Amino acid sequence: MEITIIGSGTGVPSLRRCSPCVVVRVGGSVAVLDTGPGSLRKMLEADVTYADITAVHYTHTHVDHVNDFAQLLFASKYDENPRTEPLLVTGPPGFKGFYERLVALYGDQIISDRYELTIEELSRDEREYKDYKLKTRPMAHMVPCTGYRIEDERGASLAYSGDTGYCEDVLALAKDVDVLVTEAALPPGYELEGHLEPESAGRIGAQAGVGTLVVVHLYPVCDQYDTEAQVRKSYQGRLLVAEDLLRLEV
Ligand SMILES: [Zn+2]
Ligand SMILES: [Zn+2]
Repeated sequence: MEITIIGSGTGVPSLRRCSPCVVVRVGGSVAVLDTGPGSLRKMLEADVTYADITAVHYTHTHVDHVNDFAQLLFASKYDENPRTEPLLVTGPPGFKGFYERLVALYGDQIISDRYELTIEELSRDEREYKDYKLKTRPMAHMVPCTGYRIEDERGASLAYSGDTGYCEDVLALAKDVDVLVTEAALPPGYELEGHLEPESAGRIGAQAGVGTLVVVHLYPVCDQYDTEAQVRKSYQGRLLVAEDLLRLEV
């Protein structure tokens, strides 16, 4: 399994950090976790095009995580390279209604009869796809948010929380996982309900016994602080404070 952090940032436009998006190459599948604004373009720098994507797993419908969904559907209609392969899209409870509202807004621009689009709502579920198993848990955010765990045929595993506060379900999602990608959104003193500061992210990494902890969703203010030192207060394992295009093999 190859994991690429496309965007290590937030909804605040930043030249250093693109909005949330992670690409996972697993077997012949290209699974994408969230597509924040600009992520389809940023993905090109990791040699992944929108046409390569086999599935997108959305954690929640905040703009910084879901903005490029309409862009993906729009680009997939592009006449010179129309999509014909099926596309699987999953999201939290209410995601089908979100898609229907996008269709009401954009109409034909994002609807194609050339490929099959499947949309599933997942929360506390398990699915088995061609190249990987997917387990999900509800996260602690201000809107419905689904955390994902991907396991390949060899047992390599990745957990991705999206936006969350500290909760039992994120611990369960990340239990003994090879790589946990979670957020360390804001430095101490800037705490925000439904988000993690670095020390809490570290506590989750330690309590869940993760192999590697990768922190993302860094607001620009984080770059004025030593995020790594903050995480280290509660976590001594392998740690990566992500930059865009960080790549890991599991
Ligand atoms: Zn959010
Ligand atoms: Zn967010």
